Amino acid sequence: MSHLTDSQLQGLADGTLRGPEGLAAREHCEGCAECGSELAIYTSLSTQLSGLRDAQPPLDFTATVLAAVEVREAHLASRRHTVLAALPAAALAVFAVVGWAFSLQIGKIVDDFATARTVIGVLGPVFTALRLPLGIGAFVLFAIVLTALSRTLRPSYARVDT
Ligand SMILES: [Zn+2]
Repeated sequence: MSHLTDSQLQGLADGTLRGPEGLAAREHCEGCAECGSELAIYTSLSTQLSGLRDAQPPLDFTATVLAAVEVREAHLASRRHTVLAALPAAALAVFAVVGWAFSLQIGKIVDDFATARTVIGVLGPVFTALRLPLGIGAFVLFAIVLTALSRTLRPSYARVDT
């Protein structure tokens, strides 16, 4: 039998070479001085390697990581909060703009209806009466939206600093 290969010797040393192949390799090492001494080197190396431990992280490692995670989560939460609050605000803004544009259009609609003489008597005054409240409503909604947006954005800036 020829000499054992390095991987066979390593397998014998760390115990991963088993079965008939392992038995034959071990028998060879007992009868062969060259392979026996190499096996002894690999065995002591394997023992020393298994004795090594992973480097210990600093004692405040966990606390530091957790603190960093908390800061990041706070940022994400404030951003989520801002987005969630901004969505209805944006919807209100769109509604306000549409309402405002619609109130501008009502004048035209009233004029159009003025040509259709059959309905102007009923709908004309209704639209005319709606025109001012719609404009005021759109303006009030817009003011509410701006207030809501400014209230929403302020805490997120404050929270980033803490
Ligand atoms: Zn040998």
